Amino acid sequence: MFNGKLIVFSAPSGSGKTTIVKHLLKQEALNLAFSISATSREKRGDEIEGKDYYFLSTENFKKHIKRSDFLEWEEVYRDNFYGTLKKEVERIWAMGKHVIFDIDVSGGLRIKKKFPEKTLAVFVKPPSIDELKIRLKKRQTESEDKINMRISKASAELATAPLFDCIIENEVLDNAKKEAYSKVLKFIESQKIK
Ligand code: 5GP
Repeated sequence: MFNGKLIVFSAPSGSGKTTIVKHLLKQEALNLAFSISATSREKRGDEIEGKDYYFLSTENFKKHIKRSDFLEWEEVYRDNFYGTLKKEVERIWAMGKHVIFDIDVSGGLRIKKKFPEKTLAVFVKPPSIDELKIRLKKRQTESEDKINMRISKASAELATAPLFDCIIENEVLDNAKKEAYSKVLKFIESQKIK
């Protein structure tokens, strides 16, 4: 029987975790599918509904919370809710694939707590807070205010790194990608018979 795994990538915003997750999704040997989160934040740039996120109104998001539809959810930034619907994980496992998550630190740790055996929780560490600032500014997707909000959250998030199964330092992106690939492959292979 297929034994579906959960691969969590968490990091402060701007650490490069999304780039790493996208890279891993392209590797057929890993057999991964992306967990599309629900969010109440506004759509950014060229994001696509049902591909990057399920974009919900705050009201609709709160309805799902009441119905206990979420595996985990978080008000990541004020009035910006993000969460993983239980149905999303079931959908991916039903396809015979492992689930990969690009979620915030608290959400990642919550999933690990719920499924300790099935989860590999990876923390992606930026070289420094200053570097994080530079990356977020370069991205040009958020206002100055929003960037500052993300930076102030980042310090607290960095402190949680030791709670993860492993830490990948993203100083040189290519190295981080390779390290991520081998860690995920090893986890999936070692767990096949369990
Ligand atoms: P962004 O607005 O940049 O897409 O995401 C902001 C933060 O929310 C990121 O750290 C992202 O990983 C996190 N996030 C995305 N989806 C989820 C989710 O389903 N649950 C939680 N807890 N965080 C999420």
